[in-house]
Amino acid sequence: MALISKSRFVSGVQCEKKLYYDLYRKDLKPPISEQQKELFSSGNIIGQLAQKLYPNGKDASPESYYDFSSSFKNTKQWINEGVETIYEAAFLDNDVMAALDILHHQNGERWAIEVKSSTDVNNYHITDAALQYWVMSNSGFKPDKFFLMHVNNKFIKNGIIDPKEFFTLKEITDQVIEKQYEVNHNVIRLKNVVKNKESEPFVKIGKHCSSPFICDYMHHCWQHIPENSVFSLPYARGKEWELYEKGIVELASIPDEVELSHRQKLQVEGIKHGTSYVDRTAIKEFISDWTYPLYFFDFETVFPLIPVLDGTTPMQQVPFQYSLHIKSDDRSEMIHREFLADPASFQSGSTRNPLKAIIEQLKTDFGPNGSIVAYNASFEMDVLRKLAIAFPEDKAFLDGLINRFVDLLIPFRKAWYYKPEMGNSASIKYVLPAIAPEFSYKDLEISNGGLASNTYLSMILNEFEGNEAETRKNLLAYCERDTLGMVVIWKHLTEL
Ligand code: SF4
Repeated sequence: MALISKSRFVSGVQCEKKLYYDLYRKDLKPPISEQQKELFSSGNIIGQLAQKLYPNGKDASPESYYDFSSSFKNTKQWINEGVETIYEAAFLDNDVMAALDILHHQNGERWAIEVKSSTDVNNYHITDAALQYWVMSNSGFKPDKFFLMHVNNKFIKNGIIDPKEFFTLKEITDQVIEKQYEVNHNVIRLKNVVKNKESEPFVKIGKHCSSPFICDYMHHCWQHIPENSVFSLPYARGKEWELYEKGIVELASIPDEVELSHRQKLQVEGIKHGTSYVDRTAIKEFISDWTYPLYFFDFETVFPLIPVLDGTTPMQQVPFQYSLHIKSDDRSEMIHREFLADPASFQSGSTRNPLKAIIEQLKTDFGPNGSIVAYNASFEMDVLRKLAIAFPEDKAFLDGLINRFVDLLIPFRKAWYYKPEMGNSASIKYVLPAIAPEFSYKDLEISNGGLASNTYLSMILNEFEGNEAETRKNLLAYCERDTLGMVVIWKHLTEL
């Protein structure tokens, strides 16, 4: 029988069919995405950093991911020999296996330590750990204490990362013990799935398909759900499942008497009759508060789990670039300003702090008055707030900017403006093509924020392969297109 590993157990707890597909329908599994590869590699780096807290351990990693036999044997032997610390310790009981990041012995106690690439503890971390505790106990190596080691979100980088400061150790022994009955029950249930290769479990689609993880097999199980279905209703809060259970799948089939919010109604009407909606009064009132010069502004950021710049925290949105279109008055031409930091300035020991350089450039580019227009302005405002904390001498200037923001997202989020092409989203990536189909990112080498962020981070980390000068131009072109897009939306709203 195939072994039940921790990842298979987690799959099976979410959905028996998911476990079955993991084992017997590998043809359905989508290829690993770039994002998953990055998560995996960042998990490895975090794991290696955590090992430094328990140095000189013996490594029981398997030679091949498909054969853990040497890991089981070494772990058992090394524990019996009194080895203090074992990395990737692996345990097997009755066709159920678990590998543990760090097994450590201290003051006569056995500690199980699982390292997580996150800044807090989630419920599914406890489910993982409960299985590990179960296998360890049943194979004769019950831990005295179980810990999760996660990233300390209060950590502030200052030179070389000190793992003692970077990680937080949280004991969860009582929580995993509480879950042992549940684990036992689930192991029995899931063994039946594993044994029955010939019979695929019958599981209907449900909320479990996206909780706690988006399932890899939705492209298969959800293929009967059309594009414009009840599942695309915004802020549905369970209404989508109520409708689905009644046999109403398409938006166009929702009966008129079903109670919907204003925004939901717009979407359904858009699908049924192709109708758009504009509340000119609300939009005019909103825009009339803005004062010239108008500054259309957008930051690009990196947000690495392991901070790359001194003074920043894990996952902090650290700006490296901005684009700014300025319209001085209703007759003037648009002026463009931009900034892109030197990746080398992010290195420890650089004499030029990139954030200070951004602030200095902001001081040159922004005048003392006028509205600052951003799309989802809270993002730009948060970045500026963090800069104000890091550079108190510039707080007055940065606070002055923060107070001048207006949010171009509001007319779309509040559904004062709707076109069927926007579907269920108020994101600029949907709003812009709905308003100006000719406006596109297709001709750009870098055409989305995620790619811009990853590309720049790889430059900071000296991992970038390619033409750096050309890529800098591509980054600038992408960010400029974003603020130009805002200008197009604003113009459209003023001409309504
Ligand atoms: S898509 Fe849903 S029903 Fe299908 S395997 Fe995944 S969780 Fe199970």
